[in-house]
Amino acid sequence: MAKLNLPVYKKEELEVTVEDLTYQGLGVAKVKGYPLFIKAALPGEKLVVKVEKLGKHFGYAKALKWLTTADNRVKTKAKYLQTGIAPLMHLDYQSQLAFKQKLIKDLLVKAHLDQIEVAKTLGMEQPFAYRNKAQVPVRQVKGQLEIGFFKQGSHDFVALEDFYIQDKRIDQVLLVVRDLLRKYQLNAYDEKSHTGIVRHLMVRRGHYSKQVMVVIVTNTKKLPHATEIARDLQAACPDVISIMHNVNDARTNVILGPQTELLAGQAEITDQLNGLTFKIAAQSFYQVNPVQTERLYQAAIKRAKLTGTETVIDAYCGIGTISLSMAKHAKHVYGVEIVPQAIENAKQNADANKLTNLTFEVGEAESWMANWQKAGIKPDVIMVDPPRKGLTESLIDSATAMAPDKIVYVSCNPATLVRDIKSFMEKGYQVTQPILPVDQFPQTTHVESVTVLTKQK
Ligand code: SAH
Repeated sequence: MAKLNLPVYKKEELEVTVEDLTYQGLGVAKVKGYPLFIKAALPGEKLVVKVEKLGKHFGYAKALKWLTTADNRVKTKAKYLQTGIAPLMHLDYQSQLAFKQKLIKDLLVKAHLDQIEVAKTLGMEQPFAYRNKAQVPVRQVKGQLEIGFFKQGSHDFVALEDFYIQDKRIDQVLLVVRDLLRKYQLNAYDEKSHTGIVRHLMVRRGHYSKQVMVVIVTNTKKLPHATEIARDLQAACPDVISIMHNVNDARTNVILGPQTELLAGQAEITDQLNGLTFKIAAQSFYQVNPVQTERLYQAAIKRAKLTGTETVIDAYCGIGTISLSMAKHAKHVYGVEIVPQAIENAKQNADANKLTNLTFEVGEAESWMANWQKAGIKPDVIMVDPPRKGLTESLIDSATAMAPDKIVYVSCNPATLVRDIKSFMEKGYQVTQPILPVDQFPQTTHVESVTVLTKQK
């Protein structure tokens, strides 16, 4: 490799001032214009760091000693959580909200879209213990089965009992399951040798219904003592109404395998969102912050300005949570989603809520948009809520070809959002209202937002 002419060298110890925070929550200090990324450091802080890794355009350094600390730094007892579950917990909540707003704004400016405004992030009153879903790794530590988490960007496992941002009841249920796995002497999965039994525990809890689902994910086809574990769990936690077993024997980071069987109780739990009832299966996507999801959907519906006469398409509809919420204010809603189980739930959810003005299809949003266009469906509003990778060009093509008045874009990744806004603008759409960030993930660096794109006359 050619020698790089950098202003710092490896293992150098130096004093720096942090200027900014990356989208991953790392502090940024510049040495003669060369950025160093520093874990746990906040803008405004002066500290002594040790250079660890050097790249062509940026490097990484480790904080050795703080010379000054920022006013918006929060002292946390559970400091280790910051390296995995809650990477922003050292920043006070108001500053977290400002950080998320700025993150979107900075990306827009970088893309020469300075004219697009970003509203203040809609935050939570209680930004802790909010998650309705836990997916925790299970590992063997000093011969004992433990639940815990991985440090940020690594496979370093840390055993844990209080997960801080999860519904407190979920933490309690997790401990009961952990103790049962110990009681029946089940071994945890070992990544290196790809042996052992239990890989992950997934627990979901309905915010309003209080119903709990437990999914035990194993590396083996069978879960030993399944009957006893299910029986003991039901006896200890009567609110656990669904106990499932999922098999995942692949060498992968993906948590759930394709196969899920019922051990006891029922295969789904239900919960409510904005007064509508939803059935949720183990494999279905369901927003993890119920309090903020209600506000997110209300914001999306309000911005779509539905009057009851509109035709709406909800691409990426999941179990139909947005579709049903919109159906109450529209003439007809078409939903598409790639997971068959989720569409099954969506149909059941429409029936259970006595809504008849919905049509759901299983498949890729891209192809169904084209099908609907051929069938002569003319949507007034297209709602998109894609995964982190954002939209494909082909989806943007078919969406704009249908010429809806509005495209409402719920995004969980500002980088792909900004990229996609550019494409929509090239096809005659404009962002006329400020983008609204809604904090779905307090204490983390994740940024969710609602954008409305309007067709230009
Ligand atoms: N709107 C729903 C789900 C949003 S998550 C809610 O708020 O609950 C994104 C969803 O898109 C997931 O359910 C995922 O399974 C689905 N998905 C991913 N790629 C897709 C594609 N190409 N076509 C249709 N759906 C897709």
